[in-house]
Amino acid sequence: MKRIAIVGGGLTGPLLAAYLAKRDYEVTVFERNHDPRTTAPQRGKSINITLCTRGFAALERVGVASAVREICVPARGRYIHNADGSYELQPYGNDGEALYSVSRRALNRVLLDHASLSSRVTFRFDAKCVGFDLDAATMTFEDGRTGDRFHATADHVMAADGARSFLRRELQKRDRFNFAQFYSEHGNKELPIPAGSRAEWHKHKNALHIWPRGQYMLIAFPNLDGSFTSTLHLPLEGEVSFDSIHTERDLVKLFETSFPDAYAEMPNVVSDYFANPTIPMVTIRCAPWNHRDKVLLIGDAAHAIWPSYGQGANAGFEDCAILDECLEEQGGDWLAATRAYQERRKPDVEAVADLSEEHFREIRDKVGDPAFLLRKRVERKFNRMYPERYSSLYSLVAFTTTPYAEALRMNQAQNKLVDAVLSLPDIEARLDSSDVERYIHALMTS
Ligand SMILES: Cc1cc2nc3c(=O)[nH]c(=O)nc-3n(C[C@H](O)[C@H](O)[C@H](O)COP(=O)(O)OP(=O)(O)OC[C@H]3O[C@@H](n4cnc5c(N)ncnc54)[C@H](O)[C@@H]3O)c2cc1C
Repeated sequence: MKRIAIVGGGLTGPLLAAYLAKRDYEVTVFERNHDPRTTAPQRGKSINITLCTRGFAALERVGVASAVREICVPARGRYIHNADGSYELQPYGNDGEALYSVSRRALNRVLLDHASLSSRVTFRFDAKCVGFDLDAATMTFEDGRTGDRFHATADHVMAADGARSFLRRELQKRDRFNFAQFYSEHGNKELPIPAGSRAEWHKHKNALHIWPRGQYMLIAFPNLDGSFTSTLHLPLEGEVSFDSIHTERDLVKLFETSFPDAYAEMPNVVSDYFANPTIPMVTIRCAPWNHRDKVLLIGDAAHAIWPSYGQGANAGFEDCAILDECLEEQGGDWLAATRAYQERRKPDVEAVADLSEEHFREIRDKVGDPAFLLRKRVERKFNRMYPERYSSLYSLVAFTTTPYAEALRMNQAQNKLVDAVLSLPDIEARLDSSDVERYIHALMTS
């Protein structure tokens, strides 16, 4: 039986362990942190994430999707809090499509529990990888409780150690390893919104709440207990930025003027703000992801993306399913499978990295913009008339398992159709008229 070491017990690592155990590998997962199932959460580290169709498809294949669904809140659209105090609910689709909001920590615990069901999976917590001999696949770990060092070897090492991967740094020391990182000029910070409010907006639990304000925004994700977890996105430097908020007064002024309805529900915003870390957003692009058959980068270690499209964990989960398919296709030949995996996966993660950067600008600048809203209405119209043949880019990414690069290609063609409809005179008023419907029909059947 071959031995696999997975470094990183975050979101991708435990799911990967479950996949590999099903293929009869003996798997040990090394995680530098304590076991989250037996320790208290770290402050400001419980950021919510949203899962979508492709993430659930990967969870389903190892039988953990229903356990994950139980800890999620479905969000069926965006609830926009405009600067003038008005609200607007933008559904994600015509058929009740939903993103699933979940606490990262709760998700991590369910995935760890699920992987632990297999006798072939062992977890070593408080084990930080501090040394790695690539050719021998030998790792050195430091025990976080005792400070002692120990070594481990494996037939294959999986680097699931996140965006700042230690193992990737070892690959970077080798010739012909390509690496690029791109930081956003924005960062984000978690700020809780407690349950129990009587505010009207607070009752809309099945939506993501967004306060778009041009260069900055607030997003709130619903939790099972009726609370929300909000994330403040601000430029790192500039007039309104993390760098410009020094005092309680600076913070209160920002919230009172930009997010008054959220501020009214955030009694601890000041202490939370100054206690919680500011997290930068980074895109990582690198290749190759493997060193012979000894190590393979996976999840954020291979392709971290800005969190704006809510795809990082979904993509990491999909990585596991696609690697599994490649192992199947290559009859268990590890090197051939990892090469096939990279060839198939690389264009898709490049596409989702581009999409995530673009989408960040879209939700920050455009969701309150009338031209953007009209475009979305036209897209929904196409989808309503031709549900089998037309899906918006967002729907393809979030509500199907269409490969990311393919979704991007399909969208480029569809954009031309939407542009044609938008160029019709007085289209906003006439969108539902029979002559516009005939025009759409002609476009779709020509
Ligand atoms: C603010 C924010 C919002 C996000 N929202 C979404 C969302 O809505 N939807 C979505 O799909 N994705 C989202 N993401 C992205 C998602 O969190 C990541 O893509 C996902 O966590 C990647 O999983 P991973 O296992 O590859 O890395 P991680 O989850 O980062 O796990 C890496 C693990 O490796 C461990 N580790 C690191 N170094 C070592 C070492 N030397 N030795 C041992 N262990 C080590 C870490 O402790 C960690 O547990 C968001 C990210 C952020 C920052």
